[in-house]
Amino acid sequence: MLADRSVDVHPTPQAPFYRAVGDEEEVFRAAAGGGLPVLLKGPTGCGKTRFVEAMAHELGRELITVAGHEDMTSADLVGRFLLRGGETVWVDGPLTRAVREGAICYLDEVVEARQDTVVVIHPLADHRRELALDRLGTTLPAAPGFQLVISYNPGYQSVLKNIKESTRQRFVAIELGFPPAEIEAQIVAREAGVGAETAEALVRLGNAIRSLDGSPLREASSTRMLILAGGLVAHGLSLRGAARSAIVQALSDDPDVVRALGELADAVL
Ligand code: ADP
Repeated sequence: MLADRSVDVHPTPQAPFYRAVGDEEEVFRAAAGGGLPVLLKGPTGCGKTRFVEAMAHELGRELITVAGHEDMTSADLVGRFLLRGGETVWVDGPLTRAVREGAICYLDEVVEARQDTVVVIHPLADHRRELALDRLGTTLPAAPGFQLVISYNPGYQSVLKNIKESTRQRFVAIELGFPPAEIEAQIVAREAGVGAETAEALVRLGNAIRSLDGSPLREASSTRMLILAGGLVAHGLSLRGAARSAIVQALSDDPDVVRALGELADAVL
């Protein structure tokens, strides 16, 4: 289903840059060795996707990424019959492809999806390691190398409401947060192509926003946003201008909040 823009198949020819923060790489390697499913927790834009890309590359596995959304159906994951030139043919969904090929299937924020959608992952996450293809009347055993990785943001998905507790307990959980300031500044500098001073200033602002008491913001200022702001600086925008466009305005539409964040940015930068 190449037309589906929520699916991304990554050959990752070059090693993606990922700067480890804790022991997440060792944990992932061990989980991969045992074929165990992984649950990645962390705020949006903190590096979950990059981490999986880097691990898939290191392990030499294909990575199939599916972005979850609430309208996703199990057919979007598993596959469906389609009409092709007057014939009805079965087309594997991304999950089925990963199961067949022994790829890593990364279901990004899949807990957004409905209960009847995520139910298909239960037998893949436990000792059975199989996928039921109900429409074909068969069950597909997972090829060696297949690994299920799902991510969620604990900030607004406080419970994995759609995943059975017994399934959840089979996942190896890895928590990723925003990196410590020094590491985050290195990441911002490298990814945005800016100097250390600019990167450090952006990280200072990011951390000032993250530590606001009683923050009305749904999302924190993410590493991704800091990189975006850095990229604007790299292309000639002033630091304050970049922070306003890529961070302040992106975080809120409420005029009072935007004003307060703007003042904070001016004070920090
Ligand atoms: P998430 O999947 O958690 O929403 P991403 O993996 O897309 O976040 O991270 C956003 C961007 O931040 C990445 O494209 C990458 O540039 C950068 N990034 C975040 N953390 C790291 C890290 N530890 N090492 C390298 N890059 C990182």
